[in-house]
Amino acid sequence: MKLLEYQAKEVFRSAGILTPKEIMVMSLDDAVKAAEDVVGYPCVVKAQVPVGGRGKAGGVRLAKSKEEVANITSKILGMDIKGCTVEKVLISEAVTVSKEYYLSVVLHRGSKKPMVIISPSGGVDIEEISKTHPEMIFKEEFDMILGFKDYSLRNLYKKVFSGQGEKVSFSVFKSFLEKLIDIYFKKDATLVEINPLIIHNGQCMALDAKILLDDNGLVFHPEFSKYVNDNSDETEQEKMAREASLTYISLEGDIACMVNGAGLAMATMDTITHFGGSAANFLDIGGSSNPEKVVNALKIIASNKKVKSILINIFGGITRCDDIANGFKEGIEKVKIDLPISCRIVGTNDQEAKRIMNSIGINVSVNMDEAIQNAVKLSKDGK
Ligand code: GDP
Ligand code: MN
Repeated sequence: MKLLEYQAKEVFRSAGILTPKEIMVMSLDDAVKAAEDVVGYPCVVKAQVPVGGRGKAGGVRLAKSKEEVANITSKILGMDIKGCTVEKVLISEAVTVSKEYYLSVVLHRGSKKPMVIISPSGGVDIEEISKTHPEMIFKEEFDMILGFKDYSLRNLYKKVFSGQGEKVSFSVFKSFLEKLIDIYFKKDATLVEINPLIIHNGQCMALDAKILLDDNGLVFHPEFSKYVNDNSDETEQEKMAREASLTYISLEGDIACMVNGAGLAMATMDTITHFGGSAANFLDIGGSSNPEKVVNALKIIASNKKVKSILINIFGGITRCDDIANGFKEGIEKVKIDLPISCRIVGTNDQEAKRIMNSIGINVSVNMDEAIQNAVKLSKDGK
C-alpha cells in the first residue's frame, strides 16, 4: 500500500523528522482557512494522489495570497492526475529551497537487501538524472547482520555533503538517516523516500514524502488501517477480494482465471500466454473446499468488464472437486454470468464434479492445455 504524502509525513513527524508546517484539507473553504489561520503565506498547494510526478502535472503550486490559494485550490481539487481524481490537497508552508536532494531507503530486489540511495540532484527530474547521470546517484547496501554500517553512512555523507558548501553536519545527517531507516524497518515498508530533501537552517527537512508498505505487514500495523480505503490504487476487484480474504491481482488481459493454489495459478497464467491469450487476473481460491469462497470468487471475476471468457482450473488434492463444483453451481445460480466458460477439473471426486458441472451445461476437460487453449479461443471469438 502506498501512503499519500500527508500520511507519510505524519509518520515522519512522529519519528522526529522535520517537515514544513502543513494541513490536509478536502474543500476550498478549509484550504483558505488553513492558509489564513495556520500556514501563512507564501504556501504551496499540493494535490494528494497516489501517483508521482504531481509537480510536472500542475498539481503542486505556489500561492502568495488568500485569493491565490482559493484560485489554485479550486483548480487542483477535482483535477485528474494520471487517472486519479484529486479529492485532497495539502496546504504546506513554502520553504526556501537552495538545493534539492534525493534520499531513500528501498528494498533492492537485485541484491535482495535494503539499500540507501542518495543524490545531490534531487527534485522532479530524478528519474531522468538516474539515466543520464548515474554517477550522481550514490548507493550503499545494508549488511543483513550488521545493519547499515557506519562507514556506509560516512561514504554517503562525504560524497553528497562535504565540500558542497551546504551546511549540514555529519551528526545531523546520521541521526536523520537513522530515523528514516527506523521507519523502513518498524513499519514494514519497502520504500521510504524523500524527494526533495532540503537543508533548512542546518537541519534536514522532508519537502515531499513517499512510503510504500508491504501489504503482508499491514496486519501488524493497525495505525494504517484507516488509510486502506482511501489509498487505493487497488482495483474494484482487488478490493472485493481483500474483503472476501481471497488472493486476487488484477491484470491487463481478458481471460478471468479461477484456480486453486498459487503455483497452479502461476502456471495457468504462463500457459495462457503461451497459447496467445492474456490473463485478466491472478486468483487463488485456496486449498479449502468452501463453496462460499467459490461464489465470492465468481462474483469478483465476473464483475470485471474486460473479461471475455472464464477459465476454471482445479487440481483437487485435499480440495474436493465436487465441493468446488457445488460452489460453482451455487455461484452460477446467484451471479448472472453471460460469459463462455472453459473448465478443467482433475483429482479427488472429479467424476462427481464432472456430473455437477455437466448438469449446469459446462463441459469439463481433464487436460489443462486443452482447457486453456479453449479459453483463449473463447476470449477471441467474441471480439
Ligand atoms: P512531486 O512532483 O509529486 O514529486 O511533488 P513534490 O512535493 O516533490 O514537489 C515538486 C517540486 O515542487 C519540488 O521538487 C520543489 O521544487 C517544489 N516545491 C515543493 N514544495 C516546495 C516549497 O515549499 N518551496 C519551494 N521553493 N519549492 C517547493
Ligand atoms: Mn517529489
